[in-house]
Amino acid sequence: MIDFSLSENDQKILDYVRSEALVARKYARHYDENEHEFPPEALPEADQFPGVWGLMGERGEEDSGSSVIGMMVTMAETWGDYSVRMRKGRGVGLGNAALGAAGTPEQKEKWGHLLLSMAITEPGCGSDPSLVQTTAVLDEETDEWIINGEKIFVTTGCRADGVVLWATLDRSAGRAGIKSFLVEKETPGFVVAHKEKKLGIRADDTAAYVFQDCRIPRGNLLGGKEEIPKQGSGGFRGVMKTFNMTRPMTAAFGLGMSRAALDFTREQLEEAGVDLSYGAGVHGLSAAAAKFQELEALQEAAELTVARAAWMADHGMPNNLESSISKAKGGSGVRTITQGCIELLGAMGVSRDHLLEKWFRDVRITDIYEGTGQIQHMIIARTILDYSREQLS
Ligand SMILES: Cc1cc2nc3c(=O)[nH]c(=O)nc-3n(C[C@H](O)[C@H](O)[C@H](O)COP(=O)(O)OP(=O)(O)OC[C@H]3O[C@@H](n4cnc5c(N)ncnc54)[C@H](O)[C@@H]3O)c2cc1C
Repeated sequence: MIDFSLSENDQKILDYVRSEALVARKYARHYDENEHEFPPEALPEADQFPGVWGLMGERGEEDSGSSVIGMMVTMAETWGDYSVRMRKGRGVGLGNAALGAAGTPEQKEKWGHLLLSMAITEPGCGSDPSLVQTTAVLDEETDEWIINGEKIFVTTGCRADGVVLWATLDRSAGRAGIKSFLVEKETPGFVVAHKEKKLGIRADDTAAYVFQDCRIPRGNLLGGKEEIPKQGSGGFRGVMKTFNMTRPMTAAFGLGMSRAALDFTREQLEEAGVDLSYGAGVHGLSAAAAKFQELEALQEAAELTVARAAWMADHGMPNNLESSISKAKGGSGVRTITQGCIELLGAMGVSRDHLLEKWFRDVRITDIYEGTGQIQHMIIARTILDYSREQLS
């Protein structure tokens, strides 16, 4: 039976994270308006918060699965502010998820403690990673890969200690020729070209990278398999597995912020005398209350899709379909919810005196990175209809 209820211990963890996140919220506007400043790794009030990792480490078998509590902690963090993400230590970047999914035990040991970004997107390659143009050529004499290419929109691109980079060994091989490589910062030929300017999540240091004759050791090929598999034999599917847990996590980022928007809207509506109590029946609700409850129901539904994908991961079940469902539902849901909250509050919704307009901007990314909403819908349709990539793309 699926059960998302939290143990007493997990509930304590969540309450703790929420109190820490509320402190981070005090700095939310500052890091939104000063896009080129890095949020410090620790808040000035850090000594009040010994860190959630210690508490997580004390969890036992009676507690919820680690993915389920992980999603809830993520939502609680971004409920405070998205910048809480930037304050996390090493080992939590998207590149770390790739290392965890595809790295050899030696590679995990060597690089697991670093903060790793993940660079797939290029000026001519976004939704379709088979178009990656960055090349990796083996120099047999020196036992080094020579990397050449350009990557854009790399999350935590400045802060990261290194990057898991997608490059092709053979452009004519399409997806099959694509491999992941680990490149550490300070490697000659690897330049952080600039920091991107964005609509939302402005505390995040999204960067562009350039690689020019950048030489890395042969052993930096993630997973170590140099041969190009036959088309459709599953080599590429292996690297895509990285996203089975990061997609629900991305939905969770957005849902934390849309939950914050709902909480703020509830407070303001109640202050204005709108009765939001449940049980009034459909004919007893004001238009504002009916709209608010619709948004709340959407939030709950989207959160449940995230919890389901996480619960399946905790139980060792394949969750590719459910991960895409959670990302699609979360990505579109958070937009509808934050826009609906602005509609309900009018001018207050767009005033920079409040954070609602920021949440509206910040959640927009949920439906873009790690596969857009349209791409998620395509994966869902393909899986349900049992179509191949060639039949539906
Ligand atoms: C803030 C931010 C952070 C990011 N972080 C990272 C990162 O860390 N690493 C990284 O590699 N990338 C990152 N990205 C890039 C992101 O993953 C891409 O923007 C995304 O995959 C979409 O690619 P694109 O922008 O090239 O759009 P395109 O692929 O050009 O798509 C444009 C539009 O067409 C739609 N579309 C495309 N193909 C289809 C299709 N077959 N059917 C229907 N519709 C389709 C898309 O959904 C979209 O609406 C980030 C982007 C942003 C904005």
